[in-house]
Formats: sequence, C-alpha cells, structure tokens
Amino acid sequence: MDHARVVSVRIEHLEHEHGLWCNTCMLSTGMRFTVAVISRSGMHLQDRLWCYEHEGSRGVVVES
Ligand SMILES: [Zn+2]
Repeated sequence: MDHARVVSVRIEHLEHEHGLWCNTCMLSTGMRFTVAVISRSGMHLQDRLWCYEHEGSRGVVVES
C-alpha cells in the first residue's frame, strides 16, 4: 500500500437502525447510523442520529 496517496478521510457506513422515536415530530421517523471514519491518523467510530421527517437530529431518542 502506498500511504502517501491517501489524502482524504474515508468514511465507511457500518450499520443503521430505523424506527427510532423523534420527540420533535412525535413519530418513529428517526434513525441511527454508525460510520467508521478512516484517516491517516487512524480510525474511529461515530454514531450519528437523523430524523428524515424534519431532516435534523434534534429530538431523536436512542433506546438502550
Ligand atoms: Zn423529527
């Protein structure tokens, strides 16, 4: 592998979960997705929340 050619951050979509509750819309229109952010310095995972009804993340509830 030629690491010198890696100039940008790569993002891989690992998994997603539909049907999370959104307190903004009072609907089960939220989703959670996990992405792996890969850059020169390594890799880390990010959990992101999204509601496709109001197109934002505010109010989306993650049930544990
Ligand atoms: Zn919403």
